Formats: sequence, C-alpha cells, structure tokens
Amino acid sequence: MEETVAIGCVVKLDRGFPLVRLEDGAELRCKHATSLVKGERVRAVIGDRVRVSFAERNDKALIVEVLPRTRELVRKDPTERAVPQVLAANFDRVIVTQPSVEVNMRRLERELVLAHETGAAVSVVLTKADLAESEDEVEHVRERVRALVGADVETLVVSEAMPESVEAVRALVPEGTTAVLIGRSGVGKSSLVNLLVGRDVQETGTVRETDGAGRHTTVSREIVEVPGAGRIVDMPGVRGLGLWDAEEGIGAAFPDVEALAAQCRFRDCTHHEEPGCAVRAAVESSELTPERYASYQALQQEMAAMRDRREEARRMNKEK
Ligand code: GDP
Ligand code: ZN
Repeated sequence: MEETVAIGCVVKLDRGFPLVRLEDGAELRCKHATSLVKGERVRAVIGDRVRVSFAERNDKALIVEVLPRTRELVRKDPTERAVPQVLAANFDRVIVTQPSVEVNMRRLERELVLAHETGAAVSVVLTKADLAESEDEVEHVRERVRALVGADVETLVVSEAMPESVEAVRALVPEGTTAVLIGRSGVGKSSLVNLLVGRDVQETGTVRETDGAGRHTTVSREIVEVPGAGRIVDMPGVRGLGLWDAEEGIGAAFPDVEALAAQCRFRDCTHHEEPGCAVRAAVESSELTPERYASYQALQQEMAAMRDRREEARRMNKEK
C-alpha cells in the first residue's frame, strides 16, 4: 500500500492518541513509531511539529519524527528523580496567570522563572478582578506585581464581568503566533480562553486534578484558535513546577537581585556570609525584601541540587 509522509502539528493531547493537524487542515490521531520511543523516549508534546507517515486506508498514522523545537516549556518530571518533562513546544509567548485578589508571589516567581527560561516573551495576566473589593485594590495588586516582574513584562488585568478586558490579552497573541497559558487550577485560564474565543471551548470549574485515590488525572491539552488572533494553549492540570534548567530563567525573573549580585565582592558569592555581599547589604538596608531574597536563594539552591543530580546520573550512565 502506498505510504504518505506529511508534516503536521500536535494540536491536542488527551487520553487518546495525539491529534495531529496536517498542513492541509486534515486531523489524524497518531501513534508514535516504535523507533522513536525506544531509548531516548522522545514523545511529541503539544505544539510539536511532527513528520507523520500513513497509508491511505490505515486508521492510525505514525509519528516518525519530532522536528527540532524552537522553544520548550520544561519542568522537572514530577514522578522521576532527574528527568526533564517538556510541557509544550514551539510557542512565542508564555502568559502567567494569577488571581487578582490572592496573588501568590512565591508561585509567581517560580512561574516567571520557568516562563523566562523558555526564551519566549512573558506576560502576566491577573484574573477575576471583579472579586476585588475595589478598583484601588486591583491597582494596588497590579503595582506589587509590576514591581516584582520587572519592566519588560506586561501585567494585564481581566475579569469575566468585563469581557472587553480580554482584548488586551488578544493583542498579546497576534495572528501567526502561539501563546501558552500557565497558572494553577481554578485561576480562570479556561474562562479566559472562552472569552477570547467567544464561546465555551474549554470546560471551566470542573477540572479535577486528583481522582478518588488522590492520583493525578490527566486532562486534555489543546491548541485553540483565537478569532482575530493567533493560537493559545491552555495547560490544565499542571501542578508542580519543579525547576529543570533555570539559570537564565532565574536571571530574567530576578533582574533586581542579579543587578545587586553583580556588585558582590566575589564573583562566585553565594550571598550567605561572604564579606562585601551586595545582596545581603540590600536586605539589611530594606532595598530588597527578606522574602524575595529567600525565594531567590531557594530557587538557586533547587537548581543547583538538580544540576548535581543530573551530573550524578550522567556519571552513573558512563560507568555502566
Ligand atoms: P482554570 O482551572 O484555570 O481553567 O479555571 P476556570 O476557568 O475553570 O475557572 C475556575 C472558576 O473561576 C470557575 O468557577 C469560573 O467560573 C471562575 N472564574 C473564572 N474567571 C472569573 C472571573 O473573571 N471572575 C469570577 N468571579 N470568577 C471567575
Ligand atoms: Zn553576594
């Protein structure tokens, strides 16, 4: 039987086989070729461009190659010790979502590190502004977030009660580009996608992250076409955000601390006890909050520990 090879994009990942949209618009459920998943365990993720092979009357196409990625959103695999997990590929922007009234600054910092590490543009969207007591409260939160994220990251506020508030988000995703939405469950990501699309394409409020046995249940990830704009990827069910590679991400998410660190007496200053540490000095003089200092240090440590484990794993593999 004649075999056809085509290039497509992974547009949906759910409990079934990955759904690939070919360049001509046709959509196919695809299996991974055995050669692909052996050894290196390459798995296509949402947004991946793949080469698929299919015979006309076969019902399942085969993913034979995952094309090189322009970008990856990576976290540490939550189930294994020193393995990365790619959550999405080939996007232009990461939109970090947090609820207006209860922004979790520590989680926001971590989300920003992961987002910046991808090399994509980064924005923050504060959701559910209607739950705030007043506009002043929203503005106050927005200012705190602005101070945290730095000048290069735009911070927007949206509310289901004001559908026009999402137009600024639409503008972040021009036609031909793709944005990935991250943020904890219940923050309002699906609602935001629905507002952008103008109808309910994503289920809201019902996504269960754990089943009865307390285990993680997978929920579907899908690329959604936004009218008058590009494409958006909702990432439901992403809980832990363990750092994988994060050197550049930490640098970009903590420009204030990095600028101080550049002034420490020792180039390899760990900002603990060293003399001439500009970071500690900034904490002493209240220029840097103790919370932000602590979270910078904690993320640096988490990254260093990860790097050690990776080195260790590499050594063990060599010895084998
Ligand atoms: P997701 O888990 O991030 O996709 O969050 P959902 O979009 O499912 O929203 C979680 C809950 O928050 C749902 O019950 C939504 O109706 C509610 N919600 C989302 N956006 C808003 C908003 O702007 N204002 C209010 N008051 N509730 C919202
Ligand atoms: Zn220092």
